[in-house]
Amino acid sequence: TDPARIRNFCIIAHIDHGKSTLADRMLQVTGTVPEREMRAQYLDRMDIERERGITIKSQAVRMHWDVDGAAYALNMIDTPGHVDFSYEVSRSLAACEGAILLVDAAQGIEAQTLANLYLAMENDLEIIPVLNKIDLPAADPERVAGEIADLIGGDPDDILKVSGKTGMGVEELLDRVVERIPHPVGEADAPARAMIFDSVYDPYRGVVTYVRMVDGKLTPREKIQMMSTGAEHEALEIGVSSPEPVPTKGLAVGEVGYLITGVKDVRQSKVGDTVTTKLKPASEALPGYTDPKPMVFSGLYPIDGSDYPVLREALDKLKLSDAALQYEPETSVALGFGFRCGFLGLLHLEIISERLRREFDLDLIATAPSVVYQVTAEDGTEVTVTNPSEYPDGKIASVREPMVRVAILAPKDYVGTIMELCQSRRGSLMGMEYLGERVELRYGMPLGEIVFDFFDHLKSRTQGYASLDYEPMGEQEADLVKVDILLQGDKVDAFSAIVHRDNAYHYGTMMAERLRKLIPRQQFEVPIQAAIGARVIARETIRAIRKDVLAKCYGGDISRKRKLLEKQKEGKKRMKMVGRVEVPQEAFIAALSGD
Ligand code: GDP
Ligand code: MG
Repeated sequence: TDPARIRNFCIIAHIDHGKSTLADRMLQVTGTVPEREMRAQYLDRMDIERERGITIKSQAVRMHWDVDGAAYALNMIDTPGHVDFSYEVSRSLAACEGAILLVDAAQGIEAQTLANLYLAMENDLEIIPVLNKIDLPAADPERVAGEIADLIGGDPDDILKVSGKTGMGVEELLDRVVERIPHPVGEADAPARAMIFDSVYDPYRGVVTYVRMVDGKLTPREKIQMMSTGAEHEALEIGVSSPEPVPTKGLAVGEVGYLITGVKDVRQSKVGDTVTTKLKPASEALPGYTDPKPMVFSGLYPIDGSDYPVLREALDKLKLSDAALQYEPETSVALGFGFRCGFLGLLHLEIISERLRREFDLDLIATAPSVVYQVTAEDGTEVTVTNPSEYPDGKIASVREPMVRVAILAPKDYVGTIMELCQSRRGSLMGMEYLGERVELRYGMPLGEIVFDFFDHLKSRTQGYASLDYEPMGEQEADLVKVDILLQGDKVDAFSAIVHRDNAYHYGTMMAERLRKLIPRQQFEVPIQAAIGARVIARETIRAIRKDVLAKCYGGDISRKRKLLEKQKEGKKRMKMVGRVEVPQEAFIAALSGD
C-alpha cells in the first residue's frame, strides 16, 4: 500500500470510557467483521478481558475506508488503559501518527485520560478529541467539551460527538481520521526497521509478533534479526490482522502487521525491539527500548502442596505470553513450596493469579505484595530486597524505597479528604490544578504505600469519583524497618513485612491480634509476638487448653467416636508446624487475606 493511503491511529481513553465498544463499531461500519460474526469487545480475546471489560493486551487491526472515492487502509491499535500496562500503551502509541482521545461525555476527563494524552503528545501524535456515550441521558457534552478545549486548545464546537453504543457519529469520525492524521513517512529503500509493539503467544502458531514498519520492507521466508539481541529467525509468515490473520507478500513502509517465526517464547520477540533483516541490517535500532520492570512482588503458594509442579508449569506457560512476569522458587515455613513472582503492578498480579486459578485450576494463596527495597548494611554491602525474608539481619545503614508520581483526578469537593489520605500515606503534594469542576492533585508517594489498599480507600472516600494514575519517580531513603511475627519464639516468614517505623506498631498489633483469633488453642500457652530485630513491640497470648476430645464421648456410641477421630485426622493433614505450634493452614490464609 502507498503510505499516503495509510493511517495508523490508536484510541486512548480512561478505562471504561468506551474504547473497546467504539472499536467494535468501527469494525462493523467498515465491514471488517461481518455482521453475523460480530460480538461485543471483539478485540478483547482473553476471557478475563471480556468479563472484566478491560483490555490487557494491545490489538491491531486493519480496516478499509473510502473517502471521496479513494480507498484507505486504517490501522487501529486498541491499547490497554490501565496504569499497570502503560508500557504497552507507550509502545502502541509509538506505532501511530495519530490518536483518538476518547472522553465519556457523562464522566469527563479522568486521570488516565491525562496520562495517555501526555504520552501521545510526547510521541508527537495528532490528537482527535471525541466525546463518547452521547446517547446517555447523563451526558453533558457542553461541559466536557469545555474541559477538553481547556486542556488541548481548539474550538469546543469542533469536537466530534459519538456513541460507540448506537454507532452515531462513527462514520464522521473515520472520515476525520483520514483527514487529520498524517500518513506515515519512511524510507522505502533503506534497510528494514520494524518496531515490535506487541508480541503474543499462540499455542498453535507460536509467538505472533506485531510490528509497525518504519523503513524498508520485510518479506516472508527472509532471515530477520532482532536488534537488541542479534538473534536470527526466519519469517515463516507475514500478514495483517483484519482482525483474523491474513498472510501477505510482505510489509512495506508505514504498514502494520504481524510476523511469525516459529519461536515459542515472547522473550525472544520483545515489545519495543527493532526487527531488521540479516541480509541488509539497519545500523541503528529505533528509539525506546527498555525492559518493563516488575514493581510489585508477591509469593504465590498452592494451597494443596501437591499442586506445586502444576503451578510451575502454569507459570512457565504464562511467561510465554507475558514477558513482564517474573518468578523464582521460594519456600516458606508457613506456606510450604511456592514462587516469588514479580508483577508490573497490582492489577497485573490479580490478573495472573486469576488466570492461574481459572486456566490451570489452581487454588492459591498470595502473600502481601511488597515493593523492591535497596538496603545498605553498615559494612557497605547492598542488597536488593523483594521479599522481607531477604532483609539483612545486621545493622542497617540505609533503606531506599521506590517512589511514584501520583495523579488523582476528582470533583473538587473531595480535595480535603484526598489530601488527608495522601498525607497519611507519606505523600508530599507536588501540584494542584483545577479543570472546571474537577481538580487534579499530584503527589510524590512511596509505591509501597499505594500497592496495598490505597485505591480502595481513595474510591470509598470519594464515592467512587476519583481516578488514579502513577508513574515511577526513582527511589528515596526512608526510615523503614522489618517487623517479624513470632509464634512461641519462631518466626513465621510469610508475615514479615517492611514498613515505615511509624507504622510498625500498628502492623505488629494488628497481625498478632488476627493470629490470636485464628490459631486454635494448643496444649500449652503460645505467645504471639511482633518484633523489630530482637525488640518485641507487641504481644498476644493464646491460652493453653487441655481437652480430651474423646472424653465427651465417654460411654457414647463407638461410631460417633470414630467419626470424631477421623475428622481430627483430616484436620491434621492441613496443619503446619511452626516450631511446636500446630497451625491450620486456613489460619495463615485468613490472616494474609486480612479478614
Ligand atoms: P473501555 O474500557 O474503554 O474499553 O470501555 P468499554 O468499551 O469496555 O465500555 C465500558 C462500558 O461503557 C461498557 O459497559 C459499555 O457497554 C459502555 N459503553 C461504551 N460506549 C458506550 C456508549 O456510547 N453509550 C453507552 N450508553 N454506553 C457505552
Ligand atoms: Mg477495553
